[in-house]
Amino acid sequence: MNDDTRRGFPDADGTGGSTVSEAAAGAILTIDLGAIRENYRRLEARLAGARCAGVLKADGYGLGAAPVASALIKEGCDIFFVALLGEGIALRKALGSGHDIFVLNGLPPGSESEALAAELHPVVNSAAQLGAWREAARAAGRRLPAVVQVDSGMSRLGMPPADVAALATDAFDGIDIRFVMSHLACADEPSNPANEQQWLAFERLRKVLPAAPASLANSSGIFLGPLYHYDLARPGAALYGINPTPGETNPMLPVVRLQAKVAQTRWVEEGAGIGYGHTYHASGPLRLATISFGYADGWHRRAASAAWFEGVRLPFVGRISMDSIILDISALPAGSLGEGDLVELIGPSQSVDDVAGQAGTIGYEVLTSLSARFHRRYVGA
Ligand SMILES: *Cc1c(COP(=O)(O)O)cnc(C)c1O
Repeated sequence: MNDDTRRGFPDADGTGGSTVSEAAAGAILTIDLGAIRENYRRLEARLAGARCAGVLKADGYGLGAAPVASALIKEGCDIFFVALLGEGIALRKALGSGHDIFVLNGLPPGSESEALAAELHPVVNSAAQLGAWREAARAAGRRLPAVVQVDSGMSRLGMPPADVAALATDAFDGIDIRFVMSHLACADEPSNPANEQQWLAFERLRKVLPAAPASLANSSGIFLGPLYHYDLARPGAALYGINPTPGETNPMLPVVRLQAKVAQTRWVEEGAGIGYGHTYHASGPLRLATISFGYADGWHRRAASAAWFEGVRLPFVGRISMDSIILDISALPAGSLGEGDLVELIGPSQSVDDVAGQAGTIGYEVLTSLSARFHRRYVGA
């Protein structure tokens, strides 16, 4: 038994990490940790020397922060980012001590001792947060690590330039500035002039701050070129197979496969009303399959869409229910799809980005919406 298994991580045969058995579940989510590792290697190769962190917020974009972290650690990754202190505490429990975990949204006032106890480092986003962490360092009697985030033009998190300029000379006493960082608002649009403007603003802000390594690029930022790489990149989406270069061929490997079980099949006559509100009527005799998968599993109710079986498209008909969706399977030979069989919702026939496009959203939201009801199977560990 290896460390991962003892900590409740998925084991190599993929039976761990899930609370629902494969037989009991309505849908199966397969997460390819080997593909995540390959994606990490591909990003590292582009970085030519800069380090590469792993962004694990929202439970590793819905795929499991702990198993993803253990896969990345095998590639030598030792810097992780989460969004919230609570996520950091859970990840620290899973990983044990030794790897740097930074909390992107900063520490809520009064939570500094909880962060210290879990060996978590804040991303300091304001002068007030800096003051609180300086005070925590004084009380602890040692220098405490932090990332200092500045706002180079996204207006979301980080110290605005005027606040940076107003910092007292002793503002960083007791703080071990691991990185000065900022975040790009438009990195997935390479021709957007906001990228260069943010880069210039970041350069100006770094000169005002104490000298420290720097970090600017998320997944798409890595593809903007070496100017944006600095000392540390912070990819999330690309690790999970989301295309960091929208409109161009996806340079990453797909990571996720989502399959739903057929609960029942039936024939209906021409004119039959299908699903809630009878929003669809059969235009002729149809063969239907109902799958155990619905909006409660994180699939947008408004998304017109389809499932796939052996390369054949099976359109959704009628409304998406909470726990079920009706498919028109007339295109399949009779008898080829029956109760318990699996159809594909995300996989080789339909990528995360395809699903997002159909739902009018982004791959990030598709992944982070995925349900806790699935059986989760980790492969390629
Ligand atoms: C989410 C996030 C990232 C990762 O972004 P991706 O687009 O998923 O690569 C990096 N930095 C910050 C500050 C973030 O909030």
